[in-house]
Amino acid sequence: MGPVPSVESGPGVRVRVPAKVNLHLGVRDLRDDGFHELVTVFQAIDLADEVTARPAVGLTVRVSGEGSAHVPTDPQNIAWRAAAMLAEHAHVPPDALLDITKAIPVAGGMAGGSADAAATLVACATLWRTRTSRADLLDLAARLGSDVAFPLLGGTALGTGRGEVLTPALTTGRLHWVLALAAFGISAGDAYRELDRQRAAGDARQPAGRPEVLLDALRAGDPHRAGAALTNDLQPAALALAPSLRRTLTAGADLGAIAGIVCGSGPTCAFLCADARAANRLAASLAAEGVCRTTRVAVGPVPGARVVG
Ligand code: ATP
Repeated sequence: MGPVPSVESGPGVRVRVPAKVNLHLGVRDLRDDGFHELVTVFQAIDLADEVTARPAVGLTVRVSGEGSAHVPTDPQNIAWRAAAMLAEHAHVPPDALLDITKAIPVAGGMAGGSADAAATLVACATLWRTRTSRADLLDLAARLGSDVAFPLLGGTALGTGRGEVLTPALTTGRLHWVLALAAFGISAGDAYRELDRQRAAGDARQPAGRPEVLLDALRAGDPHRAGAALTNDLQPAALALAPSLRRTLTAGADLGAIAGIVCGSGPTCAFLCADARAANRLAASLAAEGVCRTTRVAVGPVPGARVVG
């Protein structure tokens, strides 16, 4: 690589990265390493954060957009850790100014932080010309967190292990989503602890089985069958932590969604609609009902983290 500029210079490398919804989230046993064994189906949707990596001396993170007041700008930011890890792997100095523009709700169950980490790996690998292989990027992603590998891949994928062992899934057509964003966040750790508590107390249902019916519906491009097969083992825990989400889910069903589900550990709720018109109508009606902070329409699947400028 060339000499490192002594000041911020140039427009840098801009990477767009999608949020995810879990169409199926089966939470199995707690493993010895403290993680749960998961069987999940991720879908990447066109609600996206952007990370721009610019030449600089040292590492700096700036955050703007949706929920940015709640996002750290120091090494606690997972994007910072992603840049530092890549620099170490590639034997280059961790010199970059990272500008993160958030659209993915913070602590919303849509893996926004993980998406930023994935985008940072791509942006910094490009900026620093590290020539890191895709396999190595996926390996670094898996070390950063359970949900970081998927936004590199995008599309729709079956995730096993902690969610980081990914197999792309075949789909036909696009799914139309309405996202109901909450005025509060839920920590994923709190949701998993609540599920463990419910299971220890004998209050939880059996973990979800294999997602074969869902995968078949996705292959066939049938949103009604896919909607009927949406499953989230963390939903009862999210509802226990945030009972107001019941009203949100009920309103979505009453207002004509094919199906509704809590995204991952919540509190964002995702509603599947028949087409773009139905999604726009539902987004407006849900916002008017006052059962969420705001709504977004989105489609999936979309590609994973990619350089856009
Ligand atoms: P998941 O679905 O993977 O559980 P989430 O979408 O619920 O994640 P995130 O938005 O990833 O949650 O953020 C969780 C916490 O991580 C936030 O409360 C924030 O303090 C911290 N955090 C660190 N880096 C970031 C980042 N780049 N964007 C958002 N939050 C971040």
